[in-house]
Amino acid sequence: MRSIRIFGSPGLRSVSRDVDPAADASLLGELLPEMDRLLTEEEGIGLAAPQAGENIRVFILETSMLPSLCGHRVFVNPKLEAYGPPSRREEGCLSVPGIYEPVTRPSLLRISALDPSGIRFELELDGMAARAAQHENDHLDGILFVDRLGALRRKLLRSKLQKLAGG
Ligand SMILES: [Zn+2]
Repeated sequence: MRSIRIFGSPGLRSVSRDVDPAADASLLGELLPEMDRLLTEEEGIGLAAPQAGENIRVFILETSMLPSLCGHRVFVNPKLEAYGPPSRREEGCLSVPGIYEPVTRPSLLRISALDPSGIRFELELDGMAARAAQHENDHLDGILFVDRLGALRRKLLRSKLQKLAGG
């Protein structure tokens, strides 16, 4: 059984590799149900593969909370194009428990990705779905939402983050 990597884990800071849907089929077959289980147990809105211990370019989003996803829950090798006026809203992360901070991101998103069987789909997102997809995609590049805060907020959070990292 997999568990969620917490802030301080080096795997959260790695750039993840692309998935080969054929060669990685057995890995995805094991990983995706585990990611589903973790996301449901933790009542999160999204989870990226690096958080579940696998540095490959996959994330999942909770479709019941995000109807604009049209049922697309799994995003493999996603390509994002964020645009539009910036919006600022509180975010949290299952890998950074207990910390919730407003993050500024572009409000609109075009996303192209593969589904688990390797079929490409595209979506235009706004609101919470656009934000959640950008947050999860950041994980694939080793970026955490606390990296996107201003210098002052990061300074104020430093001791909390050090505690999470066990240092
Ligand atoms: Zn996160």
